[in-house]
Amino acid sequence: MQITFLGTGPMEPIPRPGHQDSICQDARKFKSKSKRTRSSVVLNYKNFNLLIDASPDFLKQVKQNKIKKIDAVLVTHPHFDAYGGITQLNAWLKSPIPIYCQKQTWLIIKKRFKNLPNLKYKEIVPYKKFIVNNFPPKADPPRAEIILPLPVQHSIINERKFPTLAFKIKNLIYCSDVKTIPAKSLGYFKNIQNLILDAAMYFNKQIFSHLNTADAILLAKKLKIKKLYLTQIGHSYPPYKTAQKEIQRFVRQNKIKTNVYLAFDKMKIKL
Ligand SMILES: [Zn+2]
Ligand SMILES: [Zn+2]
Repeated sequence: MQITFLGTGPMEPIPRPGHQDSICQDARKFKSKSKRTRSSVVLNYKNFNLLIDASPDFLKQVKQNKIKKIDAVLVTHPHFDAYGGITQLNAWLKSPIPIYCQKQTWLIIKKRFKNLPNLKYKEIVPYKKFIVNNFPPKADPPRAEIILPLPVQHSIINERKFPTLAFKIKNLIYCSDVKTIPAKSLGYFKNIQNLILDAAMYFNKQIFSHLNTADAILLAKKLKIKKLYLTQIGHSYPPYKTAQKEIQRFVRQNKIKTNVYLAFDKMKIKL
């Protein structure tokens, strides 16, 4: 399975118009890893592309990554940066595909965007495993990948209104928006090989709805994660190379065995 990070940024992309700070200046350089669109990934297995979240930068992202088709989509939660590209996706599709999300999420999407003929809603329920049809496609031997939706706390103020999921797929968990992980979900995170995790705020910065760099790394240490990929990277970060250096220093100082990677747009990993 191959994972492509379509976007690794926060609610508002980086660089931001008119900004002269170091992160935005660095992000304007050619091929800069500080440049970030809103968070989303594509999981590819053979000929099948599974999209997680349809960010408002969807069209730009598929073009940049030369993605020609999407076969199914999962939505983590009903914040605009996670679903705002749903009309772009709907118009871009040549034929209908399934969209998997919680009922509450679908109601919010449908309230905002009424006409989505190319997206066929499939309800998913926390902790109830589901199969994405043809993921991977009927192959050698025929099997379907099982996906487990794990509830996490992200919008603490409005949790009921904005329920949020992480997705466990084989030896990977994708958890792009989180502040705390409830005990029942946390059990599934333990010893997972690959974790893509929210680290929106930089080391000493805090916000009520996201983890910061240190929280994310120390959590991965506690959970004995093999490889940690930091995503949802926000504007409080320094330029990519500086952040990378400071992260590796933190890893050494805290004797962390997890391999920590600062994800960037267009990054690809193979599992
Ligand atoms: Zn800026
Ligand atoms: Zn969110």
